[in-house]
Amino acid sequence: MSEPHATSEPHEMTDEELHELAAKQVAMGEVRGAPASDPVNVPMIRHWLTAMGDANPAYLERGLAPPAMAQVWTMPGLRSTAKDRSPVDDLMAALNANGYTGVVATNCEQTYHRYARVGERLVPATRFTDLVGPKRTALGVGFFATWTITWYSEEEPVAEMLFRVLKFRPVTGRENEERAAYPLRPAVNQDTAFFWDGVRDGELRIQTCADCGELRHPPGPMCPQCRSANRTHTVARGIGTLYSYVVHHHPPVPGRDTPFVVGVVELPEGVRMVGNVVDCPIEEVGAGMPLRVTYRQMDDRLVLPMWAPREP
Ligand SMILES: [Zn+2]
Repeated sequence: MSEPHATSEPHEMTDEELHELAAKQVAMGEVRGAPASDPVNVPMIRHWLTAMGDANPAYLERGLAPPAMAQVWTMPGLRSTAKDRSPVDDLMAALNANGYTGVVATNCEQTYHRYARVGERLVPATRFTDLVGPKRTALGVGFFATWTITWYSEEEPVAEMLFRVLKFRPVTGRENEERAAYPLRPAVNQDTAFFWDGVRDGELRIQTCADCGELRHPPGPMCPQCRSANRTHTVARGIGTLYSYVVHHHPPVPGRDTPFVVGVVELPEGVRMVGNVVDCPIEEVGAGMPLRVTYRQMDDRLVLPMWAPREP
């Protein structure tokens, strides 16, 4: 998703004016954007397959793009100079200008009509669907904005995506001296409950296949190796090395002070986990650094595993 770049100076608006602006965007209907910078091409498909660990040879053999790449082809890039604006941009700018600076994606539904073929140059078209709010949510007061993007090859739709975000006024946490509930809760379900139970007990657990013994993380319902649905877990040593990381500066994240480090940690057991790197100046964080898990009590109920430097 691209950040909005405003043409007119955004000003303070009432909720009613925000809804009027939304209605105007809806009335624009589907608005075509700039065509992809590059046609669907083999090198990008190859990179994607490698990054996703997808070994299916059919894509490269038949010159087809994995359907989930739909959005990839029309990404504007980090320093985009594209002049075209989608019906979403003005509304996002207005919400930002009115203090709704937080953003969290709540829904993303993709529909694939057919495979995109090597050589096709896709064109995105955006349709703003609706604005709902203001609503009080666990993250703060905000608006839900929904739009769809359809990717066309000539006049034929190839894929489409419904995207919904919550734009909210971040709660600083300082307004409430009581320990506020940490606003971001992990998704605990029957596949992941063992992991969070472990974290609460100071154990870093890795799901294993009860039949072939394959380790897997994140946890899932079925073994990708032997397709068994029988699972158990093993307890990791709690050490790892930093495989890769990003420093998060923007957008604001509720309950967090920016910047913070999100790392991918490689465990000696053979899986990788995503977690924050803490207790280390950001400029000293580097790929390959040895880490040890540390458990942070986020509020009365939630403990999150994080990673701190350790002696090699
Ligand atoms: Zn298995």
